[in-house]
Amino acid sequence: MLKLYNTRTREIEEFWPIEKGKVKMYVCGPTVYGPGHIGHARTYTAFDFIRRYLEYSKYNVKYVVNITDVHDDMIKTANKEGITIFELANRNIKLFMKDLKELGIKEPNVMPRVTEHIKEIIAMTKTLQEKGIAYETEDGVYFAISKFPNYGKLAKIKLKKSFTGTRVETDKYDKENPMDFALWKKAKEGEPSWDSPWGKGRPGWHIECSVMSSKHLGEQIDIHGGAVDLVFPHHENEIAQSEATYGKEPFVKYWMHAGFLNVRGEKMSKSLGNFITIPELLQKYNPKAFRYFIASLHYRSRIDFNDEAIAQAQKNLDKWNNTIQELLSLEKGPENKEVATLIATARESFKKAMDEDFNLPNAWASLYDFQSRVNSIIAERVFSKDNADAILLFLKEIDFVFDFFEFKKKEEEALPQDLLNLIEEREKVRKEKNWGEADRIRDLLKEKGIELLDTPEGVKWKKT
Ligand SMILES: [Zn+2]
Repeated sequence: MLKLYNTRTREIEEFWPIEKGKVKMYVCGPTVYGPGHIGHARTYTAFDFIRRYLEYSKYNVKYVVNITDVHDDMIKTANKEGITIFELANRNIKLFMKDLKELGIKEPNVMPRVTEHIKEIIAMTKTLQEKGIAYETEDGVYFAISKFPNYGKLAKIKLKKSFTGTRVETDKYDKENPMDFALWKKAKEGEPSWDSPWGKGRPGWHIECSVMSSKHLGEQIDIHGGAVDLVFPHHENEIAQSEATYGKEPFVKYWMHAGFLNVRGEKMSKSLGNFITIPELLQKYNPKAFRYFIASLHYRSRIDFNDEAIAQAQKNLDKWNNTIQELLSLEKGPENKEVATLIATARESFKKAMDEDFNLPNAWASLYDFQSRVNSIIAERVFSKDNADAILLFLKEIDFVFDFFEFKKKEEEALPQDLLNLIEEREKVRKEKNWGEADRIRDLLKEKGIELLDTPEGVKWKKT
């Protein structure tokens, strides 16, 4: 039974999707005014594992990630560069898609753009106005939070009395309440705009997610995710808009939030010089090592990105790939009766950990146990080809969730001639039973990073 932590209730709950076997999942996507940063990479990778694990668990998942292509930041950047927001968006969406692919993130089923949903945004805003929940001012249309009694239930904030008072008529063009938020913004000079019942203008930020999730997933959805800093006000406002529009509660059954990512012990910021964009991340690090790093941590934890952490992730990933190479090159040996049980136990522990709010650290703890047992039986050489194939099949099975193992058999690397000569020399002295000299050469090779393995098929070497 899958359980997950629901921000709405602050509890770990059993997962019961609205429709049996199906998951409607929405994650807030990027504002495409520039390249994404490593914090975004963490969020989208964490939700990629969640989406893939749901699919692994045989759910039919429809996954939607929106793209914010009209926004104050878009307008500012486009003006600075002397291009339109559409040109800016097209350039950065292309980059974002490339980044997702390189990060190994499976493409969402739908990636709706705000500018393609203006008609629907106007319709929802109009509905809210007709219901008396939204009101027009001089500069836009606002959502009156005083008209939505449940406001604050996600973020667990209590509104001050002063914020819920009635509108002062003399103050007609002001917001009624400083916390009321814009559904529609009337156009200012030099801004992109669309025709609407309130004159030319553009959508506010929050409305897009209410509109696009209902259009592509329905009025109520199973999982809505995002980074933890979106809980308030963005997700709170989404709930207010959607529940006030459709009259259905809850808009989202399970709210899931990914934790923050610090860089070298501090919150990432341009002024601290620790700001890393996704293209910079991909240029400097192996994307599979980054994936491994994210996979080893809980999606809700605050995590620290630093060189040591990523080096450790690379090392651990290499160890798995070495085990896989060993399994791929295994030729013969007696059948090991323990292997089937070993796999069954590993699968069970993996699922148990993942079913408990996608607890990746626990899942990896059990997989490490499995790996160490596999390595020792490889070393003992009590291992048949069928055993190796069964283990490889299991690793491929879990790699459906992770997508970072390397299953292609590496071509034998050629060693430089002087090292080959040393190996040959050692074979010769070994035949002469000159053990002292044989050990000396073995140690010498070890210093040069070559480990020798004396197997029944003869001497083999591997790089350490
Ligand atoms: Zn959103």
